[in-house]
This record gives sequence, C-alpha cells and structure tokens, in this order.
Amino acid sequence: MRALALAAALALTGPVAAQTLDDPEGTILGTGREDGSETGFRDWVTGFRAKALEAGVPAATYDAAMRGAHYLPDVVARDRRQSEFTKTIWDYLDVAVSEDRVALGKQALAKQADLLDRIEARYGVDKEVVVAIWGLESAYGTWRGDVPTISALATLAYDARRASFFEGQLVQALKILDQAHVAPGAMVGSWAGAMGHTQFMPSSWAEFAQDFDGDGRRDIWGDDPADALASTAHYLAKWGWQKDLPWGLEVKLPADFDYDQTTERVKKPVADWRLLGVQPMAGGDLPEGPEASILLPAGHTGPAFLIFPNFQVIEHYNLADAYVIAVGHLADRLRGGPTIAAAWPRQWRALTQDERKELQALLAAAGFDAGGVDGRIGPKTIAAVKAWQKAQGLTPDGYPSPDLLEKLR
Ligand code: CA
Repeated sequence: MRALALAAALALTGPVAAQTLDDPEGTILGTGREDGSETGFRDWVTGFRAKALEAGVPAATYDAAMRGAHYLPDVVARDRRQSEFTKTIWDYLDVAVSEDRVALGKQALAKQADLLDRIEARYGVDKEVVVAIWGLESAYGTWRGDVPTISALATLAYDARRASFFEGQLVQALKILDQAHVAPGAMVGSWAGAMGHTQFMPSSWAEFAQDFDGDGRRDIWGDDPADALASTAHYLAKWGWQKDLPWGLEVKLPADFDYDQTTERVKKPVADWRLLGVQPMAGGDLPEGPEASILLPAGHTGPAFLIFPNFQVIEHYNLADAYVIAVGHLADRLRGGPTIAAAWPRQWRALTQDERKELQALLAAAGFDAGGVDGRIGPKTIAAVKAWQKAQGLTPDGYPSPDLLEKLR
C-alpha cells in the first residue's frame, strides 16, 4: 500500500498555471457549453459521426467506441478549474522534485538500466531526462490515470470550450483503437486525454509513438514502459535534443547585473555571459555550449538559471517554466547533482486569475501595454512589468509578485 499512497502523493494533478500554462495549445478560451448533459452528449455523438467518418474513422469503430462513451461532468469541472488554478513555482517543485521522487527515480533507473541504455543509444537522449519526464507524468508509471480516454475527449469536444482541438484528438484516439494498438477498455489516462506512462495526447502518439519492443503495437498504456519511454526519447530527439548538453544550470549573477538581459529572448554565447560575471552556483566554470539565456523564474530575489536550447526542447512537452525546470532539475538530481541552492521568495503567494487581470489593467492604465487583460502572464505582460519597474527605479525582473501588484495599486 505504501507504493500506492506514495504514487498518489507524487501525482501532479493538473498543470502549474502560475505562468502561461493555462492553455498550452494556445487556443482561444470560449465560454463552453453550460447545459451539458448525457442527453445533449448523445445528440452530439450522433451529429459528430459524419465528421469522424469523413476524417477516416471506420463506421464500425466509431459506433462501437461511442456506444460505450459517456458525458463526464468531472472532466468539464476540471477543465474549468484549470484556468483558475495557480501555484507558485516553489510549491510545485517541492512536490515535483521531492526526495521521494528522486529516490524512486534512482530505483527506476537501476531497474530499467538495460532498456534505458538501449533507448539512449538509439535516440541520443540522456536517459535521466526521459526518466524525469516519466517521474513527473506518471510517478514512474504508477499513476497513469484511469479516466476512459474516449469519454474524456468526447466530453471536452462536446463541451465546446476548445472543441476543434479535442475533436481532432478524439478522431486520432479512435484511429488508435481501430488499429488495435490498445484494447478499448485499456485506453485510459488523464481527464484531459493524456495517456500512458508519459502522458501523450493522441496527436503526439500519432506523430512520435514507437514500437520499441517490436510486437507490432505502439503500446504506451501497458505495464511494460518500453514503448512509452522510447516514444518520449523519440519526441525529444525530434524536437532537437542535444545529448550531453545541459538543459540549464543554476547561476550566480553579479551585484551590478543588467536585468534587461534576463529573458529567454536574450541569447548570448556562454563566453559573453562569463564576461558579464555570470558564474555557476556550484562553483567551477560555465560549461561550453551553444547560446544561452538567463531565466529568473521567481524574480531577482530567487534562483537564477542559465538555460540552453535543450530547455526549449522540454518546453514542447509543457510550456511552463516550472515544468521545464522540474524535468531538468530532477534529471540532474538523478545523476547525483545538488539541490537548488538559492532560496525561493516563499513569503509570496501566486496571484489569482483576478489579480493577474487587475495587474494587467493597472499596467495599461499607467501606460504600459500588457497585451490585453486576459489573466495570462506572457511575454508582453512581463515586458510591461519590467518597463514599469524601470520607470519606478525598481529592479526590472518582470516578476508579477503580490508586492508588485500592491505597489501598482
Ligand atoms: Ca510494442
């Protein structure tokens, strides 16, 4: 039972919406269907049939799969809640890279050593990173989700908040069933339609899933993680993973550092950062490597990272800085690397959705365009925060803290 309780504790239900993760697909938030019901859902299933068949789903597959599908009100509730949910990066990392998750990851590395070595050799992706994603997505396969994927996707497509995205995912999921890669009853996953050990959406499965054990099925759902871990390595390789190069590392900035340089969009050769006085927190010299950027995920009073192109590769899994740092840092810890040394500004909480909107409105009123009042802290909002901080003679780190909101008020 301890294993199960641990898995529950390690399950990272829902994303880290503190920054820009609310809507990772970048789709426009609609209002959704407020009158959702099983009756309305059945009508939708009947109506969507022609579209699915036109997209290449055989009629028999559609009818069999959709007969067993149901409207899942919990899925809609979770989807609504996701937009409101906020968590600070340090609260997220406490769970994402807990000592338990590090210890279990080391066990997984040892237990699957042969498989992981073969996957690393074939795809050229460091095995610790693959295992870190496995650890975050499903607590190393122990928490793969139990929501029937077809019902979840059909509910989200019917709900209409992001209909076209989920219609496409549903069609792809039906094709997976049609090709018998998984038994219909075994196609389960998260409430949002992510499946298997490393939580692939059906579209990612279609593009990247691998049949590593050679049994003819690309099976990311079953107990054996071979196909799923190979699929993840393949995914990272296709997005440009560079083996043996870091994702990033914690650095120390000099006291007189120019904070205009702290954004992912400012890229410089490592030698230039060295000249600017950037040093590894753990001592020694900065690694040789391609162009890098400085990232301050919690503003200038928190840890600073020098990030490399592999950071952007992990972003293809999930855009949130917190997620990418968690994957990279967990991988480092699995190699025996140190914990993050600088303290997080734990006195701050995350801004709520309403506060984020208020922040954007106040910035706009002060003449600093935050790119609209949508509650999403993207590059434009961060740039507006920086410009306002500069105008006020504050350190322009772009971090939207409760303290900053208070000052703006
Ligand atoms: Ca297989």
